[in-house]
Amino acid sequence: MKKYIMALDQGTTSSRCILFNKKGEIVSVSQKEFTQIYPQPGWVEHDPKEIWSTQIGVAAEAAMKVGATTENIAAIGITNQRETTIVWNKKTGEPVYNAIVWQCRRTAPIIDAIPEDMQQKIKERTGLIPDAYFSASKIKWILDNVKGAKKAAQAGDLLFGTVDTWLMWNLSGGKIHATDYTNASRTMLFDIKKLCWDEEILEYFGIPKSMLPEVHPSGYMYGNTAVELISGEIPICGVAGDQQSSLFGLCGFQKGDVKNTYGTGCFLLMNTGKKAIESKNGLLTTIAAGRSEKVDYVLEGSIFIGGAVVQWLRDEMEVVKKSSASEKAAKLVDDTEGAYFVPAFTGLGAPHWNQEARGTMVGITRGFNKNHLTRACLESICYQTHDVIKAMEADAKCKLKSLKVDGGASNNNMLMQFQSDIVNTAIERPKMVENTALGAAYLAGLTVGYWESEEELKKNQKIAKVFTPEMSKKERDMKIKGWNRAVETAKFWANME
Ligand code: ADP
Repeated sequence: MKKYIMALDQGTTSSRCILFNKKGEIVSVSQKEFTQIYPQPGWVEHDPKEIWSTQIGVAAEAAMKVGATTENIAAIGITNQRETTIVWNKKTGEPVYNAIVWQCRRTAPIIDAIPEDMQQKIKERTGLIPDAYFSASKIKWILDNVKGAKKAAQAGDLLFGTVDTWLMWNLSGGKIHATDYTNASRTMLFDIKKLCWDEEILEYFGIPKSMLPEVHPSGYMYGNTAVELISGEIPICGVAGDQQSSLFGLCGFQKGDVKNTYGTGCFLLMNTGKKAIESKNGLLTTIAAGRSEKVDYVLEGSIFIGGAVVQWLRDEMEVVKKSSASEKAAKLVDDTEGAYFVPAFTGLGAPHWNQEARGTMVGITRGFNKNHLTRACLESICYQTHDVIKAMEADAKCKLKSLKVDGGASNNNMLMQFQSDIVNTAIERPKMVENTALGAAYLAGLTVGYWESEEELKKNQKIAKVFTPEMSKKERDMKIKGWNRAVETAKFWANME
């Protein structure tokens, strides 16, 4: 009998389900978008029930497409949008409020009010730089603003979960209230070294411990789906936040492995092994997906504007018709004629952290045309990635060996070649583009013995194309120097009175 692994990939804009076979190939996919709720500028919510209904809907559809029944699914793995916060009533299963999405900025004042010594404790224990992005202040907001919520929480009637927890709770008919280390490490409430909820931080935010889920490794037997739900029990045994899941799907199991996902933004993760490195360069420290209680750690750096700069070229500047056309346009010119574009539309993230910086174009000469602009935009993605990698190398005190890539913009050959030139490292682009879902499937499949070991998974990996550096050291150094000056110009502009 054919057996598949089912990956539930619950993202920010859509719920997806993918079935994988033993070779790690996609057998079936189903996807459904759901409603984005914007109650006020800067606020973002999802309806938890819609998250659940779309997710269970695509699961049924993906199975149906290949005629798979409960017996054909060996295990379920879950990967999810991280940090998004849901609070529900333990007895009724009813959410007390909409899910507050990671992008939501409503709790910025709660973060601004954190005293210096508490900020320091949060950084040391959770590995995160205090921000409204993480779950802690979102839970506090719900308890402070939803009528009766605080009382109910204190009485032990409310449960908190990130999206993985909410899905497991529903899949198990309310039996499982758990999360994994990767998701817990993004709540800003979890001590990533002691691997437990931090009582002092919980107390500071006024969050009763009874609300919090149990925490286990990403590959772990969490429990089974409820029989009444899908007429049969399927083990749920892989859970990881999307970025950590993608690193696992790309077989980034070893210390020193680095991946970059080139999506709307870019997410870089470096596996630093058993050591939780405290960044001196504005990176975050979180937990890697794994199967052991002895966890591995990662350094994480995100770039706000990655592929989004290509969207801007397409939608606002109307310089290219499709994102993919940027490759051909950029190849029509040899270089940018010495010009640079810093796409700091919403400030600069790691390692610069400048909220006021704005998009800056420098070094334009008379011959500069739209193809040079396209090239400068693509190159800016590579320079920003370079800056994060340099910060990672400095923090981890090791050199990048190779870069694993995925995400929509990684299909651009010009971008990948320039990236390889600028970081002076080989880039292997895998055939598989669905590494986030694959990571969750791998975690679940390893746990039930569907796959035997990480080594077997590595054998599954098919490389579509390898990019190796072709640029001379002199040229690379000169280009990076120019980029650094462009970034300084962007900051200078922002900091002028
Ligand atoms: P997300 O998951 O963030 O929605 P995707 O992984 O789907 O992102 O990638 C989409 C992003 O990649 C878009 O910003 C798009 O402009 C960019 N993109 C897609 N294909 C290409 C390409 N061939 N060249 C450059 N950018 C691309």
